[in-house]
Amino acid sequence: MHELSIALAILDAASEEAARLDGARVLAIHLRFGPLSGVVEEALRSAFELAREGTPFGETSLVFEAVPLVAFCPSCDAERPVASIRHLRCAECGGPASHVVRGRELEVVALEVEP
Ligand SMILES: [Zn+2]
Repeated sequence: MHELSIALAILDAASEEAARLDGARVLAIHLRFGPLSGVVEEALRSAFELAREGTPFGETSLVFEAVPLVAFCPSCDAERPVASIRHLRCAECGGPASHVVRGRELEVVALEVEP
């Protein structure tokens, strides 16, 4: 199960970070994910709830921050948002975008720890 292994990797990263912070209690893990990351938010959320059971993260919540899909537009010679995943077209000029710049990421960006 794809999402479960991602959830476990997130918990691993959080444990390392919590250890660096002298075992601080982690209230929330902030994740950044793009529309091309291949992750379904709901599926990852339930996988995380399974994975955190019996760990020090039993009460830790997952906060998702969606990254917009951004591609390079040769006509504008700039990075532009695109309207949809299926049609990689520049939202500014409507021209075809050459490649995706952002939108594939899935990363832990921050931990919220108990003050
Ligand atoms: Zn353009």
